[in-house]
Amino acid sequence: MSTQYTIPSEWKSAIEGKCPRCRKGEMFSAPLLSFKSKKMRENCPHCGLKFEKEPGYFYVAMYVSYAFVVAQLVTASVATYILTGNLESPWLYLTVAIAIAILMAPFNYRYSRIVLLYWMTPQFKFQEKYYLMPNKEDI
Ligand SMILES: [Zn+2]
Repeated sequence: MSTQYTIPSEWKSAIEGKCPRCRKGEMFSAPLLSFKSKKMRENCPHCGLKFEKEPGYFYVAMYVSYAFVVAQLVTASVATYILTGNLESPWLYLTVAIAIAILMAPFNYRYSRIVLLYWMTPQFKFQEKYYLMPNKEDI
């Protein structure tokens, strides 16, 4: 008898907000589209990885978030221009920019940290032994 398992892909785990080391534990306490508090957990509930590697580590995520915001604002401005053809009113663009910034804030908060931990933190590479570790609830 052999045990069969499929390790979820890096992208799938990142999009779902799973821990980068075990790809099982949730990094956040609630899903993105929920009204509950979406705070980040301190440790992975599955493998115990401490997400904030060192104090202030998530300040780096601000730069990632900044890049996201710039990309979203450029996209939104171009889309506004294509849809309305307006080149006169700065207020239209300002309103769109503020709305986009507010709407995208939860997304940017979450995915800037995910990008940081998945692709900018080599110490947090996926390790199969943590994936195969039995779930805490099953012990
Ligand atoms: Zn983990």
